Amino acid sequence: MSTIDFTRLAMPGVQQLQPYQPGKPISELERELGISNSIKLASNENPLGASPRALTAMASVVGELGLYPDASGYQLKQKLAARHNVKPQQITLGNGSNDVLVMLVEAFICPKCQPVMSQYCFAVYPLATQAAGAKPMIIDALPADHPTMPLGHDLEAMLTAVDEYTRLIFIANPNNPVGSQVSADALRSFLQQVPEDQIVVVDEAYTEYATSEDYPDASQWLEEFPNLVVTRTFSKAYGLAGLRVGYALSNPQIADMLNRIRQPFNVNSLALVAAEAALDDHDFIQRTREMNQTGLAYLSAELSALGFKPLPSAGNFVLVDMGEPAKRWDEALLRAGVITRRVDNYGLPNYLRITIGTAEQNQRLVDALRSIRDVN
Ligand SMILES: *Cc1c(COP(=O)(O)O)cnc(C)c1O
Repeated sequence: MSTIDFTRLAMPGVQQLQPYQPGKPISELERELGISNSIKLASNENPLGASPRALTAMASVVGELGLYPDASGYQLKQKLAARHNVKPQQITLGNGSNDVLVMLVEAFICPKCQPVMSQYCFAVYPLATQAAGAKPMIIDALPADHPTMPLGHDLEAMLTAVDEYTRLIFIANPNNPVGSQVSADALRSFLQQVPEDQIVVVDEAYTEYATSEDYPDASQWLEEFPNLVVTRTFSKAYGLAGLRVGYALSNPQIADMLNRIRQPFNVNSLALVAAEAALDDHDFIQRTREMNQTGLAYLSAELSALGFKPLPSAGNFVLVDMGEPAKRWDEALLRAGVITRRVDNYGLPNYLRITIGTAEQNQRLVDALRSIRDVN
């Protein structure tokens, strides 16, 4: 071992980082416990797998993998531009939307900047901020007993916190890990009041799952609000999490800045064609939404019946108050071959985040919780 402490050579922000904690992979759990037949309800993946159209499209290009991908993503951008009624110059493609979120921070955050985000927001926002040597401005979430948005974004408080050092404001809608959503009226009013030179990032990773009447599609407001950036992903409803592809929609100047720092081949050839094909797979998205709605209703009812407190969710997951430290439940579920997600790192040690699975998976989770409860 070297006697040099390389940690100390790293940027201060990097030294202090707590790395992102992903859901445990099935293979890892099974290796550790020597079990099989486990299910993973931990990473908000689509239980139906990938869009079949995407799979067919990928198979058709495997012969071309010796070549670099199209660095500009021309075809996919054409398709996205038509879908969102924007120009291709308003699109930035990412290796997952995570990639565009990091690009936004790299492009716009200075060490003195303090991007505004909510308590219990997606972990990547504070991580990327710290990696850039800056500190996030974290605004208290609404209380757990709030009537409509428990633990949700307090947009009024966020607005009050915005100043010239903000530069970026992150709003995930629906929000992960909470599942809360902000309404069209509330978001519009927020955008109208934010200073025009502060950039508002609306992360719509779960947009396909939101069903309520007053849920906004912020991509329709890009003309009206030049400081608005909307991010989307193929990882969630489209079922392409393993492929890594997402994008940002913004005004052309912001897109230009992002594209300057974007790695030239950040989206691979398979992902480009798969994303393009997936966009046309309306049937798959429809089935995905229906299965999610049924599963979310079932799980929320069953979890309540078991004495837990599931929060309202607009996504494909539910955050559940277990009424005590969730560690014990998490560990017992793992032994039963059910992987859910602890959210201690978000400051929510009494909660589990559970992804909505197939009917069979949801039932297996409920049965496992019931038998754990009955044994103890
Ligand atoms: C999953 C998720 C993303 C994106 O993931 P990618 O796979 O990188 O596209 C972005 N934001 C939120 C809130 C998420 O939960």
